[in-house]
Amino acid sequence: MAADIILRTERLTRRFGKFTALNDVSVEFERGKLTSIIGPNGAGKSTFFNLLSGSFAPSSGRVVFDGVDVSRLRQHHYARVGVAKSFQITNVFPAFTALENVRVALQAGVARLNFWGRRDALGLEPRARDLLQLVGIAQHAARPARELAHGQQRALEIAIALAADPKLLLMDEPTAGMSPEETRTMMALIERLASERTLVLVEHKMKMVMGISDRIVVLHHGELLAAGTPADIRANDEVRRVYLGK
Ligand code: ADP
Ligand code: MG
Repeated sequence: MAADIILRTERLTRRFGKFTALNDVSVEFERGKLTSIIGPNGAGKSTFFNLLSGSFAPSSGRVVFDGVDVSRLRQHHYARVGVAKSFQITNVFPAFTALENVRVALQAGVARLNFWGRRDALGLEPRARDLLQLVGIAQHAARPARELAHGQQRALEIAIALAADPKLLLMDEPTAGMSPEETRTMMALIERLASERTLVLVEHKMKMVMGISDRIVVLHHGELLAAGTPADIRANDEVRRVYLGK
């Protein structure tokens, strides 16, 4: 059976002036899977992420989400087609409690649905609590977001992203700046989410994603170096050279 592709890039290229940060990258992302984009610093991961999430427009090539060319959509339209990215720290209201933050995010989604003629404003608070539970910070529901520890804030950002019920969730270095303990908690959360969502994760620490990813995409100097299962990637000589050569 052919793979169910939710997102693909076609010869995606992004230049900054004369510098090519991402060159001719064609990759497919399978629905329901966890795909990690890895590569050394400067490989083009964040550029790729920003192209996938609509923050950047490509210089050439396309991003196709669920069969629709989204390459030239403005950022705020991305949520409507079903792509959400964590971490948009700007989405968190520091003075609001964790629960209020998620409720506001759900409310925004309902407003959008109402625009299309549906009426389902009820039950927002239980759903907000469920999301906090899912990301593991239910016990902090009543605390202002600014008082949460770093790892808890990132969990809250994920809950906010999930409030839009995205078909695909993008995450850029979700464990950046975290303690070993927070990192373990975040990886466990990502594994939980992976069982029910399509996730795309950007990470420069290869070891971090090897155990949890279904597929790995390796970038190097803005080019696609390899793509495959973690076992494929581990056995790939070019990937070993790039990582071990550092
Ligand atoms: P990574 O996230 O893998 O570390 P980036 O995508 O951030 O890599 O950067 C890839 C390359 O593109 C780097 O050499 C970086 O200096 C360059 N680059 C990224 N963003 C810009 C920009 N806005 N202007 C100029 N060069 C950029
Ligand atoms: Mg980066």
